[in-house]
Amino acid sequence: MLYYPRPLSRLTEELARLPGIGPKTSQRLAFHIISLAREDVHSLAQALIEAKEKSFYCSRCFNITDTDPCRICTDHARDRSLLCVVGDPRDVFAMEKTREYRGLYHVLHGAISPMEGIGPDDIKLKELLARLQQEEFKEIILATDPTVEGEATAMYIARLLKPMGYRVSRLASGLPVGGNLEYVDEVTLGKALEGRREL
Ligand SMILES: [Zn+2]
Repeated sequence: MLYYPRPLSRLTEELARLPGIGPKTSQRLAFHIISLAREDVHSLAQALIEAKEKSFYCSRCFNITDTDPCRICTDHARDRSLLCVVGDPRDVFAMEKTREYRGLYHVLHGAISPMEGIGPDDIKLKELLARLQQEEFKEIILATDPTVEGEATAMYIARLLKPMGYRVSRLASGLPVGGNLEYVDEVTLGKALEGRREL
């Protein structure tokens, strides 16, 4: 049995629970953290707690925020006739990075997936429909992931929104099929936005 001081092994275990962190990386990080100056460790711990405690979902768009409504929803320099519907808060950051998009967002927090038992009621779709009653959008861009679930979700929403008179569009093809929006580089994503096609 390898000897590990208990606090060190606990830290290693906690880090290993994070996504993308294997046992070797978690051990390396744990040793690194212990070698840091006390105030740097405090600052890191403080950042973890603060990020968790001060972040929540915007009651309008469901993006991660520290103010409600979030800074995007309250930014009046934005085009309020344009709404981009995404699956995950990380996709908002991906879209923002393109610097091509100046409208508002709605985060669904998931995608319809009959295989996994996720239906329309399990994502923020009711909330989207409620929003449409209160805000005046002209175009809705369905920027769900280019996966089977993302496509199915986009088609489902398009079928609901088209009869309501909205211009409904989908990001141009050319995005890696099966991939997640958040991993697409900003140039490709910007082009897909520019070349969006009406559904
Ligand atoms: Zn918001």
